[in-house]
Amino acid sequence: MSKRPVVIGLEIHLQLKTKTKLFCNCSTDYIGATPNTNVCPICLAVPGTLPVVNDHAVELAIRMGLGLHCKICDNTRFHRKHYFYADLPSAYQVTQYTHAIAQGGYLDIEVDGQKKRVHLDHLHLEEDAGKLVHPTSDGRLAGAAYSLVDYNRGGCPLSEIVSMPDMSSAKEAVAYVTQIRQLARYLGVSDGEMESGSLRCDVNVSLSNPDGSFGTRIELKNINSLRSIERALDYEIARQNKVLDTGGTLVQETRMWDDAAGVTRSMRNKEGAKDYRYYAEMNLAPMSAKPDYVTKIEKTLPEMPWDKRERFASQYGFSKDDVALLTEDRQLADYFETVARESGSPLRACNWIKTEVLRILKEQDKTIADFSVCPVCLGKLIAKVEKKDLSNTQAKDVFAKMIDKNLSLDEAIKKIGTIGHLTGEKLFDIISGVLRDNADAVEFIKSGKDKKGAKLKFLQGLVMRETRGNADIAEVSQTVYKLLGL
Ligand code: ADP
Ligand code: MG
Ligand code: ZN
Repeated sequence: MSKRPVVIGLEIHLQLKTKTKLFCNCSTDYIGATPNTNVCPICLAVPGTLPVVNDHAVELAIRMGLGLHCKICDNTRFHRKHYFYADLPSAYQVTQYTHAIAQGGYLDIEVDGQKKRVHLDHLHLEEDAGKLVHPTSDGRLAGAAYSLVDYNRGGCPLSEIVSMPDMSSAKEAVAYVTQIRQLARYLGVSDGEMESGSLRCDVNVSLSNPDGSFGTRIELKNINSLRSIERALDYEIARQNKVLDTGGTLVQETRMWDDAAGVTRSMRNKEGAKDYRYYAEMNLAPMSAKPDYVTKIEKTLPEMPWDKRERFASQYGFSKDDVALLTEDRQLADYFETVARESGSPLRACNWIKTEVLRILKEQDKTIADFSVCPVCLGKLIAKVEKKDLSNTQAKDVFAKMIDKNLSLDEAIKKIGTIGHLTGEKLFDIISGVLRDNADAVEFIKSGKDKKGAKLKFLQGLVMRETRGNADIAEVSQTVYKLLGL
């Protein structure tokens, strides 16, 4: 197959985390709500009603724009985009066209260690449409003679982020969406969940002509997971190459990704911008975001994910994988830093979170925000290991008690009834006893026959059993060696 350069540009819709809709006071909480209960004359487009812009939605859009290094427009306004469809009661969508709230900007991504800057065209605000519900007899789209419409989602605030066609592989597209999602979550702007639809992605892809000019662009819709982005693009790139290889031509169209079948299917020829008959939304005055308002928002921005990654790598010296894991979620990163500070050992804190905390969260199907052990408590527990007051094994027992029985650190320590950490003379006595009782093994080792160290391990194991795990394995080995004169 010929190698034509791949060109990809993405349009991402993020549902903004406001309590109420973009132009009215209806709740945005539509998941699971009774159909058509979160509606009012404004979001149902009853003639004569007037929209009022939701300040919080504007603030969140600016937040996201700042995170994406955009220029915030000081003269932003809304337009009507006309199309006739049952999920849109007014037959036009209130959106932004020529004066988007945030313009330009970029996002840096990394694929296989290769950094790349994806430039953005703009970020704009718009209202969501309602949802068509197709009656089904067998759980699939059965092609019934009618459809139902639920307007609860209609009028919810979205920010649409339009990238430049800067990406050149499916992997880059996935990295871009992943980074946008993480940023949106860090900034508290959106849940960014593809499965539930708070992050939706339209993927545009074309293959360049031999002279380097852009080829015909295909838009892919109905992509509901990161995995599907990659699969849909791989499929579509191969399909377009095949059409061109066999002397065919591509038409500019919208295709729908069928996840089950693993193919894209033609949906409709793409409408040109003129078909939407954009014109100014005269019910809403232009808005100017004053510089001090923008500065005020800027001051509330948290540390950005990429800055946090860089800081974690240099401050703690962790591997790239560990850094990515700890900074994936802002709350998890905060949790880690408290544990690290409280325990005095960032390395131990990292290992505990990786092996214990994340395992339990997975078992309990929870996020760190709902985790029952507070970071200060875990930090104090790890500090006890660090100070050798508890062995690692004991600490894990204590931790399990804290979780299973919902005990405080002190209660859990009492519960496991530790015999106290054994070290120095006490440990020496136990080890001497073990060696005395196992003269055969001692002889075997001394005569140099224990080439693989199996007998030595056996003796160490006996000591650990005697101490019920209340000793430091390194100290045990050292003492055994010393006593054997090795
Ligand atoms: P529309 O409004 O019709 O969807 P836009 O000009 O707003 O068109 O572009 C939408 C998206 O398509 C942008 O993200 C852009 O980067 C992308 N795009 C534009 N041209 C191409 C191309 N030749 N190949 C792939 N993506 C493209
Ligand atoms: Mg578009
Ligand atoms: Zn309403």
